[in-house]
Amino acid sequence: MRPRSLLLVSLLALGSSPAPFFAPNPRTGQQADTIERKEYDLAPLKNAKLPIIWVLGGPGSGKGTQCDRIVQKYGFTHLSTGDLLRDEVKSGSKRGRQLTAIMERGELVPLEVVLDLLKEAMLQKVGTSKGFLIDGYPRELSQGKTFEEQISPCTLVLNFDASPETMTKRLLHRAQTSGRVDDNEETIKKRLQTFLTHSKPVVEHYADKCRTISAENDPDVIFNEVQQCLDKVVASA
Ligand code: ADP
Ligand code: MG
Repeated sequence: MRPRSLLLVSLLALGSSPAPFFAPNPRTGQQADTIERKEYDLAPLKNAKLPIIWVLGGPGSGKGTQCDRIVQKYGFTHLSTGDLLRDEVKSGSKRGRQLTAIMERGELVPLEVVLDLLKEAMLQKVGTSKGFLIDGYPRELSQGKTFEEQISPCTLVLNFDASPETMTKRLLHRAQTSGRVDDNEETIKKRLQTFLTHSKPVVEHYADKCRTISAENDPDVIFNEVQQCLDKVVASA
């Protein structure tokens, strides 16, 4: 049976409980391992009606850098899906080990798994948070749609726009200190390609609530523009 039909059959068999995910086996490349899924009570998140800001931009466009500043000024909770995934890997869990193989190939992790990690982190912070900065999500349109269906509509999309040359240069520089398995020349190329393929439909679909900011400038200049967008969000919250 082909992997896709296998997935379909298991989805049907499981009914309404969360479907497991089949990650490719790191050695054989076959879709084999099942990534475990959990169920969550999302009512606290839905009821809180906090601003939710998605932060888009290619690898190395400076999302993390700007998010740090946003957290300082606005007190939002910064959730980087990349960091959540890397933390899961570090935890040594089975789910983490399966993720390692996917991330080392520079590919996107299955949507449901990223969403589970986001739900867990958001539920943990919902009582004390002023809003959520979701950094590096959605990586593709289906991720955005599923997020809004299951959690809550997003308030604003901040899109950091930098050229592939700029992003590559910054990532190679970051590689000297980041220790990230994916900050190497080969994986960077693959990540940029993944980003370029998947991000355009996201930006187009959410055009109404998307603000694109040039990320070529220095961080202060970029943050000035960011503040103009966020001051409005805070004023109308
Ligand atoms: P992302 O989270 O989008 O992958 P980071 O914030 O980690 O990007 O930034 C990637 C690298 O580029 C880091 O080394 C960071 O210090 C640097 N950087 C971020 N923003 C800028 C900027 N506006 N100008 C120059 N370098 C930047
Ligand atoms: Mg980052």
